[in-house]
This record gives sequence, C-alpha cells and structure tokens, in this order.
Amino acid sequence: MSWFKHKQPAPVAAAPVVNSGAALAELVLNSIKEGVIITDAAGVISSINPAAVAMLECGNAADVVGLDYRLHLKIENKGGQVMPDAENPVYIAVASNQALNDFKTSLAVERTGKHLPVAISVIIAGNNKIITFRDITKDLEEDSAQAEFISTASHEMRTPVASIEGYLSLALNAQTATIDERARQYLESAHAASKHLGKLFQDLLDTTKLDDGRIKPEMMPTEVYGLVKQMADQFMPQFLQAQIKFDFGSSTGVDMGEAKVQPAMYAVIDTNFLQEIMNNLLDNARKYSMPDDNVWVNVVGDERQIVISVKDTGMGISQDDIQHIFQKFYRADNSDTRTIGGTGLGLYITKQRVEAMGGKIWVESTLGSGTTFYVSLPRLSTEEYNRRITVMNNQKQFMEVKA
Ligand code: ADP
Repeated sequence: MSWFKHKQPAPVAAAPVVNSGAALAELVLNSIKEGVIITDAAGVISSINPAAVAMLECGNAADVVGLDYRLHLKIENKGGQVMPDAENPVYIAVASNQALNDFKTSLAVERTGKHLPVAISVIIAGNNKIITFRDITKDLEEDSAQAEFISTASHEMRTPVASIEGYLSLALNAQTATIDERARQYLESAHAASKHLGKLFQDLLDTTKLDDGRIKPEMMPTEVYGLVKQMADQFMPQFLQAQIKFDFGSSTGVDMGEAKVQPAMYAVIDTNFLQEIMNNLLDNARKYSMPDDNVWVNVVGDERQIVISVKDTGMGISQDDIQHIFQKFYRADNSDTRTIGGTGLGLYITKQRVEAMGGKIWVESTLGSGTTFYVSLPRLSTEEYNRRITVMNNQKQFMEVKA
C-alpha cells in the first residue's frame, strides 16, 4: 500500500442532463442576465424570466403572467415621465410587428420609485413578441467617466494650443517679426496644424458638454429667414476665396437673394445654435467642393415647419458613408477626403443642436454630383410670434418698473 494517498474530491451528485428543446430553452431563459418578456399578439405576458422579475421588482413570475406587459414595463421619456403609447417605441414595435434594436431609455420601477436605465429590443416571432432588456447603469457610468476625462483634457489642452497659435501668428506677421521665405512656409504649416488642433479640442469639449446635457438651448421667438440670410452672407468672402459660386435662394432659378420683400418665417430657436449649425454646414459645403462648384442656401416653409437647405455641387457622399456621417468622429475615407482637414465631429454636433431645438436634419447626396443638407424647425405663426413678443415686452416693462 502506498504511503501517499491522494485526497479524493467529494463525489458530486450528477445533475440530470437536459436535452429536450423546451427544457433547454427554459434553462437558458432562467440563467441569462437579460430580462426577457414574451407576449402574445395582444401584448399579454405568456412568459417572464427571473432576471426580468428581479429588474422590474414585480414579485414573482406567476403574478405577472396573463397581464398586459405595459403594467410593469413602464418606459420613461427624458423628463422621467411614463411615455404615452403613441410615442413609446416598444409599444409601437409590439403593436405594429416591427423589430426594435437596442433602444436606450429608462424604466419606472413602481415598487421602489427607481429609474432603471436599460437598452430594450423587441423581436417578432410570429404571434409571439419577445421583449429583451438589459441594465445599462454601468455602461452609462463608464461613458460619463470617459466624457469627464475628455472634457477636462480638451479644456486643459486648448489653452496652450491657443498660445502656440498666437505666437505663430506673431511670427508670421511682418510688423512683429522678420523671417525668411523658407521659415515662413514652415511656420504657415505649423499655424494651420495648430488651428486644426484647436478646433479639435473645441469640438471635443462641445461634444462632451452636449452629451452630458451641460449645454441647454436658450429658446427665443426669432425671425429665421432674415437671420439665415445674414449668416450665409458672412460666408461670402470664404466662398469667393475658394472660387465657389455662392448664392442665397433657390438652386432652381427663383432668385430670392435680392428679394424686394423678404418673407418672414418665425420659430422658437437658440440663435447661437443656429449659427453653429449654419457654420458647420457651410464650412462643409466649402471644404467638400472644388473651384467653379456652386453652393446655395435656401429657406422655405409651410404652416408647420421651416426648412433650411444647404446644397452643393461638390464631391458628394457614397451610399455606404451616408448612413454614418452623423456619428461621432465619422469621416468618409477616400482619396478626395483624405487631404481635407476635419474632425468628424461637426455633423454630430450639428444634429444634436438641431434636435435640441425640436428640429430634424437629413441629407441627400450623390457621389460625384453633390450634397444637400436639410434642417427643419417647427414654425411659429406670425400671430403667435407677435403674441409672445408682446408678452415678453410686457414682462420686461413690469420688471423695470419693479426695479
Ligand atoms: P469633418 O470635420 O470631417 O468635416 P463632419 O462631421 O462635419 O466632419 O462631416 C463628416 C463627414 O461627412 C465628412 O468627413 C465628409 O466625409 C462628409 N461630408 C460632410 N459634409 C459634406 C459635404 N457637403 N459634401 C461631401 N461630404 C460631406
């Protein structure tokens, strides 16, 4: 007999092997971390897994099966209110048999009054609707830590870059410095690069401020037609320098540039936001066009909305790229765009600004022929504009008298 005896592990009772399809499906549903609710065509719960019961804090599965899923899956809007059905993407997906993918929102957990951040998907499987959702609290915390880091870093780096830019300007100015031709060429390149870096930091800072809601629009009743014309006029010298023909008015021939009576179109907007939107769209129209191309800015409206368009006959955008251009940092990568400076943040910021004012942005483009960006804003009738201005003036007078 050997003097050395291996310690044998205690025998473990063998778990029964699950091999029927239904039992396996149940095992999977019971063990995954995602919440799963299966409903029939009318939205009545036929099955709910333990993860969903735990996240919704709704007692136990047996209490919930047979009920309308909306009684427990209460989706909130950005203001923390339960969304009405007409606006609720999960309701719309279930009711109209359309899949929904990773919709980020929060759920009102009734028992504890908690707001649970989740990403929800809806899968349509015949008459069964499978609603899955996962807790994204950790993802949001990580995003926020990352945004905080980018925001601090870009803020800190902007200051020395501005100083480099300033000194390079001084070196390039004949009144403040004497340099030879070769040094001028080097410094001009360094100046362009430092300006690009400064713009990148500014864009990064704006992006993080937008993402965490630090920038809020200051909405005021405004006449949009004249304001857009004024903003477009400011770009005239840049287009002239780039030898691009630039016009305010329709590209189909109706010249409103010198219109005798300008149409008044009112909306409630933040004028700084609109300035940034126009700057980005016009800057892109110039960057992605060549000498002899055309750029038009136009403003039209019906009783509901005002539509601003920026159209160019420049290089256009491919169908592959067009679906991504509003994403953060996305730049179409081809031999034409590679030499053009940019950060890929301009359209992301533009879209956020438009949506913060209750508007929409979309694009039409043909590679090689040109691009049109459209921005629509909810329109204010002339009567409503006048009424709001009168109310604001009265309030101002009242405050002045009180002071
Ligand atoms: P960038 O700083 O690169 O210009 P944007 O977010 O403003 O970033 O634009 C994203 C991408 O969309 C650009 O890199 C370019 O590929 C494409 N794009 C934007 N505007 C136009 C345009 N008017 N014509 C052609 N391509 C455009």
